[in-house]
Amino acid sequence: MDLTQLGWKPVLEAFFAEFRESGMVPARVVREDRGYYRIRDVEGEWLAEVTGKFRHEATRRADYPRVGDWVATERSEGDHTAQIHAVLPRFSAFSRKEAGKSDEEQVVAANIETVFLVSALDREYNLRRIERYLTLAWESGARPVVILNKRDLCSDVARFVEDVAAAAPGVEIHAVSARIGEGIDELESYLIAGNTVVFLGSSGVGKSTLINRLLGTERQRTGEIREDDGKGRHTTTHRELIVLSNGAMVIDTPGLREIQLWIDDEGLQQAFEDVEEVARLCRFRDCLHEAEPGCAVREAVEAGKLDAARVNNYKKQRDEMARLARKQTLAGKMQEKSGGKQMGRLRKQVKKIKRNH
Ligand code: GDP
Ligand code: ZN
Repeated sequence: MDLTQLGWKPVLEAFFAEFRESGMVPARVVREDRGYYRIRDVEGEWLAEVTGKFRHEATRRADYPRVGDWVATERSEGDHTAQIHAVLPRFSAFSRKEAGKSDEEQVVAANIETVFLVSALDREYNLRRIERYLTLAWESGARPVVILNKRDLCSDVARFVEDVAAAAPGVEIHAVSARIGEGIDELESYLIAGNTVVFLGSSGVGKSTLINRLLGTERQRTGEIREDDGKGRHTTTHRELIVLSNGAMVIDTPGLREIQLWIDDEGLQQAFEDVEEVARLCRFRDCLHEAEPGCAVREAVEAGKLDAARVNNYKKQRDEMARLARKQTLAGKMQEKSGGKQMGRLRKQVKKIKRNH
């Protein structure tokens, strides 16, 4: 294996020269876990940490290594660990920006060639949302490809493809079915050795099914690795940068799944306007539409005025956002404590969720 198989580009050589002179080795970050990194180079995987000097000199969160980054490392052969001295320039990156703070960005994944924007050809189909994902993809510097999944549920695929084509000039569109394996072979042309692909799309559109299908095609389930948790037990963890057997790479990080939710927050009310409208008639303002008395949503479902599956989907997305918001509020509090910057946008999000439910 050589570095180009991990996505190394000749242009990086120029940046790396000075590090190479001081005996460092380039490696790619494949996983990040609370300040520890798992990095990969031509010889295998190493557990790594940034140096004290790095920590001292880093001024922004975006300075720290993220999944997909190329880093300059010093390895310690004995215990198979490494020290990260520097992050090489990113040629593309997905960032989450905090509203009103143009210079505070949080990089979620770096150095990606292609982004698969996955939507489903079911009732959740929403062109405006696809447009928002497209903006995000273009901003990242990666090339977007629209995937319309669940074509098996749709009787007029051509109309939807046309619809998206009009909104996304110059972007390739593929209608597929991850479930029955239709159209998947078309996607293989993007899975080029040394290239990195990410999947973006709302919860439930079929990203995991699609990734598993692609892994299945490659006949190698590398998505899961077994790790010793130090107590003699083996735990199965999800790897974030997956190398397919044909050499293409897929990044599937929780961070990217969170990006999708930030976008969906803006779209939730719009996408589920019918449910939200009925929900305003519930007796309790914080009604969860479960077993509460006077729940207008439940009554509408029972009367056949609202689709039960659609309401379930609505609740699923709402719960996922609330969970995320709780997690992020906690992170915000911790930041505040340490004198860090506040997460204003988050607060707004939490307030909005509280107001609506
Ligand atoms: P994710 O949240 O985007 O990762 O979505 P999942 O992969 O978990 O899929 C959500 C649901 O959609 C699951 O029940 C899948 O079985 C189903 N699903 C995925 N792909 C297809 C498809 O092509 N056709 C149909 N009918 N269902 C699909
Ligand atoms: Zn209700």
